[in-house]
Amino acid sequence: MSDILPTDQKYFKKIYEAAHKMADFYGFMKIDTPIVENEEVFDKGTGASTDIVKKEMFAFKTKGGDALALRPEGTPGIARSFIENGMHSWPQPVKLWYFGPFFRYEHPQAGRYRQFWQFGFEVLGESGPVIDAQIIQIFYNILKELKLKDLSVEVNSIGDNQCRPYYKKLLTNYLKSRESSLCSECRRRIKENVLRFLDCKEEKCQPIKTEAPQILDHLCDECKAHFKTVLEFLDEIEVPYQLNPYLVRGLDYYTKTVFEITSLLEGETEKKKIELGGGGRYDKLLKTLGGRDTPACGGAVGVERVIMFMKRQGVEIDEPREVSVFLSQIGDMAKRKSLKLLDQFRKAKISVGESFGRDSLKAQMNRADKLGARFTLIIGQKEALDGTVIIRDMKNGKQAIVKLEKAVSEVKEMLKK
Ligand code: AMP
Repeated sequence: MSDILPTDQKYFKKIYEAAHKMADFYGFMKIDTPIVENEEVFDKGTGASTDIVKKEMFAFKTKGGDALALRPEGTPGIARSFIENGMHSWPQPVKLWYFGPFFRYEHPQAGRYRQFWQFGFEVLGESGPVIDAQIIQIFYNILKELKLKDLSVEVNSIGDNQCRPYYKKLLTNYLKSRESSLCSECRRRIKENVLRFLDCKEEKCQPIKTEAPQILDHLCDECKAHFKTVLEFLDEIEVPYQLNPYLVRGLDYYTKTVFEITSLLEGETEKKKIELGGGGRYDKLLKTLGGRDTPACGGAVGVERVIMFMKRQGVEIDEPREVSVFLSQIGDMAKRKSLKLLDQFRKAKISVGESFGRDSLKAQMNRADKLGARFTLIIGQKEALDGTVIIRDMKNGKQAIVKLEKAVSEVKEMLKK
């Protein structure tokens, strides 16, 4: 788990604002669910056999014996809140967004942390394929607004309770006949989570994968029609996408559409595809967690990953001028007067910088330059005695002496020019 240092805060702010703006435009309401939930929410929701729950979840018992977990992802908590707060009686669909920290016990490496931040969008209570397309469009557009390059959207459909069981059986039979050639993890997956075989990265499994039956050939009519319409919408809104028949995402609750958005990371020899975010439809999750049948669709993007790409791809963040005025002073008496003056500027809503710790005028002027101050106010020993202040225009170096009590109103006028 790492600190978010002041140097990275501007990226967090920029990403938060981009997500917030998009949420407002599309009518998503902000929600914050607790960081800690009953472990059961993720066991049942994300799925007890998934890597996230089985290997990566920080789960613990409280002194009172409750089984809790740090949230590894956002969707189950939101589904739990939907049920608990009776959101089925709100105007449908309920559109929610969030931005917050998540926790997974993973091997830390570049772009992979044990505490990381995500923002996500969820639409609950609507089954139409237009929602799937809109969710993808929203994420794609936020990442574009953040000026990320080489973005690619991958989509697939993993069917529903009508067609997936048959496909799973087909895939299991196919894999059983080739079991000895599979990696050890995939041999385990045959029994526990056979779809995960499709996104196995082991060299050994690749030739078996290319020959494997594909789910798109085995979708039921309803899932086929739904997926076709999602793709038509994506064509219509000009979101470039690729079909990826191996995309399954690791979670149990997905039905029909799944998607991921990637970008390319410049490596020493080649460009590597990295996932920035993903999601999909989850029509059965709310029922699984004890709610009514509520179709839903959503996704999430990793904030640290986006920051990594913004930095690598040289995305500049315009930083507004930090202060309008810099207050410099020499000597104790001047300091005392400055402290009062500073407060008057705060009340007048004029941003002011100072460095009371530094006594040299030169050091203070350097600081004023760094902060991009338009004017510097100087109170030396003489000015402190006279009750005056020097106002220095940082653009042309011109100076004027004014009465201390007039300083704020003078600066206000000068800033207007
Ligand atoms: P997932 O739901 O696992 O696909 O995660 C969605 C996004 O969250 C990923 O595309 C990453 O950008 C980000 N993410 C997931 N796990 C981590 C992690 N351990 N550290 C940093 N970012 C992560």
